Amino acid sequence: MSEEKTKYDIIIIGAGPAGYTAGIYCSRARHNTLLISGILPGGQLMNTTDVENYPGFDQGIMGPDLMLTMRKQTERMGTKIIDDEVVSVDFKNNPLTISTASSTFEANSVIVCTGANPRKIGLDGEQTFAGKGVSYCATCDGAFFKNQELIVVGGGDSAMEEATFLTKFASTVHIVHRRDEFRASKIMQERALSNEKIKVHFNCTVEDIQGDQKFQKVILKNVKNNEKITLEAGGLFVAIGHEPNSKILEGQIELDENGYVALKNNTETSIPGVFCAGDVHDHRYRQAVTAAGFGCMAAIDADKYLAGHK
Ligand code: NAP
Repeated sequence: MSEEKTKYDIIIIGAGPAGYTAGIYCSRARHNTLLISGILPGGQLMNTTDVENYPGFDQGIMGPDLMLTMRKQTERMGTKIIDDEVVSVDFKNNPLTISTASSTFEANSVIVCTGANPRKIGLDGEQTFAGKGVSYCATCDGAFFKNQELIVVGGGDSAMEEATFLTKFASTVHIVHRRDEFRASKIMQERALSNEKIKVHFNCTVEDIQGDQKFQKVILKNVKNNEKITLEAGGLFVAIGHEPNSKILEGQIELDENGYVALKNNTETSIPGVFCAGDVHDHRYRQAVTAAGFGCMAAIDADKYLAGHK
């Protein structure tokens, strides 16, 4: 059996639109490229239903289908993909090193595309009942809750999208939001608010998440009058934003105060040869199409860097 290659020109960490696009460009530039995908390849679009705003699909495309197509395209271009999780990196020495639980890989350049993860409310019951009625992914779990009442927490586009999607299964969907107006774009709000299965609870915070073997109810507090409200439901979907996946980068490259990767010129991180693309840096646009474009930019930057460091 031949020994697995561990030294690459470029290693990409992460398999969302940024990572896959970077892979396509790196391989087309004839660099030996490894993409380490993480244990749940495909990133956040794996949790999305219809993607209507990715150019090239006039009828829209399902998120997981888009990601599978990107993966196949990336592999066809020659990028090797490993479905493993990076546990540590060493960017302080050359070559740059990246380790999974079982292997260590070396590279002359690295592109970090680790994305972001759903933010948690931070209550004990949230963890206790995670996977037992508490979910962060309507697409993954919505179908388990046919004809039940469901709760969605959040006031952004994600909350609107999840709530609207869940009305396919639920009898009623309660949106719980801590303020008196949504952050979501007007079109997403209108879509949700015009759905007669959706009820909105403004000015309410989630104080407790309770259940027995599985999730049963939330205790809400109306922040205007301090009234406590008990809302029983079959499931609770938390859709309150994201946290960057940058833990493995701490102490290795510069991060901003919220843990997002800080960049200087375009996609350059604080370490020469290490580039970054997608939601682990970008908390402003956060779109599949911007992440893909960003992945392309990082690959071109890595290519130019390698040309200058032969
Ligand atoms: P977001 O825009 O950051 O919204 C997060 C929401 O959760 C806000 O309403 C926020 O309340 C609330 N929230 C935050 N922390 C909370 C906490 N601890 N407890 C209770 N509520 C909390 O996040 P997002 O909705 O995930 O969207 C992220 C980005 O992706 C946005 O740019 C969005 O446009 C984009 N996106 C687009 C689509 C689409 O176009 N199809 C779909 C999904 C997401 P406050 O408003 O009070 O801060």
